[in-house]
Amino acid sequence: IKNIGVFTSGGDAPGMNAAIRAVVRAAMYYGIEVTGIRRGYDGMGKGDFFTMNRKSVSNIIQRGGTILKTARCDEFRTPEGRKAAYEHLVKNKVDALVAIGGDGTFTGAKVFGSEYDIPVVGLPGTIDNDLVGTDFTIGYDTAINTVVDAVDKIRDTAESHDRLFIVEVMGRDSGLIALRTGIATGAEAILIPESKTGLEGLLNRLEFGRKDKTSRIVIVAEGEDAGGAFEVGRLVQEKFPNYDTRISILGHIQRGGAPSCMDRVLASRVGAAAVEALRDGHRNEMIGLINGEIAYTPFEHAIKHHQGIDPNMIKLVEMLSM
Ligand code: ATP
Repeated sequence: IKNIGVFTSGGDAPGMNAAIRAVVRAAMYYGIEVTGIRRGYDGMGKGDFFTMNRKSVSNIIQRGGTILKTARCDEFRTPEGRKAAYEHLVKNKVDALVAIGGDGTFTGAKVFGSEYDIPVVGLPGTIDNDLVGTDFTIGYDTAINTVVDAVDKIRDTAESHDRLFIVEVMGRDSGLIALRTGIATGAEAILIPESKTGLEGLLNRLEFGRKDKTSRIVIVAEGEDAGGAFEVGRLVQEKFPNYDTRISILGHIQRGGAPSCMDRVLASRVGAAAVEALRDGHRNEMIGLINGEIAYTPFEHAIKHHQGIDPNMIKLVEMLSM
């Protein structure tokens, strides 16, 4: 391996910069050149490349977002789009790739790796934490800390006004952000896509639960079945007009901000491990961290499976919010 191309793709996540930095610095350590590819597969197909050095990644470990920018790219889903990308890689003498993103990014990488003889490894960069093959994804820890900080602030005003707040957090297919932050903020209930009984449980609790509570927080994942925070809020208001109910959608603040220490260290470890994996002949694998050890998961497996919900954690929310 002489020249590694690195790019970020799909939704951005805090810690992607720390991962880029680790890839660049580890490659330099092993005497490998690095080519930065802007805007993911879109920039790859357009030849938006530049040579990176130690200095290109100075002073970025603490920054949110991604200095390489990210994009969604439909052309890469076509054989012509992938051919254009391959030609630009050959022209720029890039002979291996590190893809930082989520399962869509790895699906693209898998298809590309089966068509062209170029080793690709992936790093799990998504705030959702829904990938298998790693205990945590890069960005998840920062995102849940942002949510906890926001919900703590909402709790202050909820408590002062005796209000019930329905707070919507990110997670179109996964309730992992909602579940963990629900436990950490002492939420009365959580509604997530993986559990069908959330709404019923919430309504039951409001009807038969403790009446002396002065504030209530319900965390709703955007992809849960009842239809998001507005719909849940409408149902609650209809059934319980005596509750002073408010709705808050946290939105894109969850993606931004300085990465937490956990995310910086995770990104640094898997970033360096990706370079070593390519040197050792790995390809078509995601590099994650399981029980503190570097773990290699074939894209095939990482794409097909999703990190599930531990039912004990759901029970914990119910048990502790009584
Ligand atoms: P996040 O989880 O944050 O949304 P992601 O990596 O899953 O991140 P996607 O938008 O799903 O984000 O995928 C990123 C890009 O990967 C797509 O825009 C597309 O260019 C490429 N891609 C996804 N699926 C395929 C596929 N089947 N074939 C080729 N390319 C694909």
